[in-house]
Amino acid sequence: MPEGDTIYRTARALGRALTGKQITRFQTEYAQIARADDDQPFVGQTITTIEARGKWLLIHLSGGQILATHMLMSGSWHIYRPGERWQEPARNARIVLETADFQAVAFRVPVARIYTERSLLREAAIPKPEGDVLAGAFDAAAAIQRLQSHPDDELGPALLRQHVLAGVGNVFKSEICFLLGLSPFCKVATLSELELKQVVETAQRLLAASVLEDSGAQIVTYQGRKRRTTRKADPAESLWVYGRKNEPCRRCGTPIQRCLQGTNARSTYWCPVCQPLPS
Ligand SMILES: [Zn+2]
Repeated sequence: MPEGDTIYRTARALGRALTGKQITRFQTEYAQIARADDDQPFVGQTITTIEARGKWLLIHLSGGQILATHMLMSGSWHIYRPGERWQEPARNARIVLETADFQAVAFRVPVARIYTERSLLREAAIPKPEGDVLAGAFDAAAAIQRLQSHPDDELGPALLRQHVLAGVGNVFKSEICFLLGLSPFCKVATLSELELKQVVETAQRLLAASVLEDSGAQIVTYQGRKRRTTRKADPAESLWVYGRKNEPCRRCGTPIQRCLQGTNARSTYWCPVCQPLPS
């Protein structure tokens, strides 16, 4: 599932290809977006900014409209040169946006909406820039306060609240808890100010490392990339606990456990020895 790092890299790649460029063709499967396009055609407008906000990707147009897409579990944006073969069937394309040099295609993106700057400010579902772990405007002290405003949450589900720490997803949730030796089942209220500060700093560090440029990075067709939280280059050793049920803990050898946690029943991985539940 895309987490904030994936959306950030997508926004960066799309931004490089499309920012400052005029839209030459636009096509969508979404009625609301097609209506907005009828009212104020996208063709002829310039793409001014492309940004990630947590798991939302925002494309700002010179006419003031903002195309917001959310990938949920299945969606992805691809970039192609004109005439390049698509890596997904055309029937999965929900939005096609073209400039003279590139085609951007949103495949199986389940949520797409049009906003204005004003309506975006009022939209509670889309995180503000200061709430996005990867944004330059991110405010760590405010993020700690937002965590503290959910004292009865268990730490695991609290980390997935997008208005608390926009960008952290299910993989990083388990990895952050392990790295700090914190049980994902401890209540936020039981954590000290210092521990919460470390939680926020670790989230920032892991996500930032995950969006570091590959050397020689350039505009390429979007590809997913494996996440890495250990310092090992071997993909089989890239994560501490996520996806490693019953495999030995990399620190103590105890079998890693997995369960479904929180109201959304998301999988959580942890080492019961390295991450004891405070009694
Ligand atoms: Zn362990």
